Amino acid sequence: MASEAKGVLVGANGLRTVSGVDKPAAMTRLGVMGGTFDPIHYGHLVAAESARESFGLDRILFVPAGQPPHKAEVPVTAAEHRYAMTLLATASNPRFDVSRIELDRPGPSYTVDTITALRELHGPEAEIFFVTGADAIMEIFSWNRSDALLESCQFIAVTRPGTSARRLQEWVARLEQGHGRRFHRVAVPGVAISSTDIRQRVRDGRPIRYLVPEAVEVYIQKHRLYARA
Ligand code: ATP
Ligand code: MG
Repeated sequence: MASEAKGVLVGANGLRTVSGVDKPAAMTRLGVMGGTFDPIHYGHLVAAESARESFGLDRILFVPAGQPPHKAEVPVTAAEHRYAMTLLATASNPRFDVSRIELDRPGPSYTVDTITALRELHGPEAEIFFVTGADAIMEIFSWNRSDALLESCQFIAVTRPGTSARRLQEWVARLEQGHGRRFHRVAVPGVAISSTDIRQRVRDGRPIRYLVPEAVEVYIQKHRLYARA
């Protein structure tokens, strides 16, 4: 059984896909993938592509955080390196773009400010979907002006190994109850990769091949990122 709401099909498995039939051609459906991307890896890329496909998004905009507010206590690689790696990793996908919006905005990078700016840029008709991993959506109430953020756009939470799919489902249902039907869930092929693990691997001299795109691997070597001092 599938029920329909605003052109989105809700299947028996509870996951939604865009029917596409009643989507106005002119309306932009923009996915926004925020992150520290220190470095970007295949977990980010498969999450973004799965969200894009499942919801018929026109593009995914990767937005590397300039100053990640949640990582104030831990050293983060220079923003320009993280931006460059994000460009390299996404270059071959015509539907992926990278934004400097958080790099060029002074102060901590708050997602709510980014969504506001993107809405001004793309106009009120644009549908904006913020894509997060399961771990990130469960922390959303600790984000700056979370109430305003939760009202500002739609959200696509993707499954991530390490966070139970059932807990994610419960979270999305709770968010929907409190804030309306703007919260979605997508099951992505599980890729148990984290940037933390990649940084540790480099420090330990272990391979990161097949965990990040080759161009990112070469960039990390060239600039000696994450290596022991
Ligand atoms: P770190 O270990 O430094 O926190 P990370 O791998 O979690 O890095 P982030 O830049 O923190 O990467 O994550 C950006 C976004 O991508 C978050 O919403 C996060 O949940 C999501 N994400 C990261 N890795 C994966 C993955 N393997 N599968 C699904 N989502 C992911
Ligand atoms: Mg993280």
